[in-house]
Amino acid sequence: MKVKCPECDGDINVPDDAVLGEIVSCPDCGQEFEIHKIQGSHVELKPAEVEGEDWGE
Ligand SMILES: [Zn+2]
Repeated sequence: MKVKCPECDGDINVPDDAVLGEIVSCPDCGQEFEIHKIQGSHVELKPAEVEGEDWGE
């Protein structure tokens, strides 16, 4: 499925079997995002934490 990049509005390809916490990157701006929420065909992304320790959700 395709998800809009929060950064540049580009199309990010997310595998149908993607799981929470998986990292996807935008082909347009190169930014990396973590899959934050999956609800049916709706996927929410948040910027991947590079130095943070915000993995405990
Ligand atoms: Zn982008």
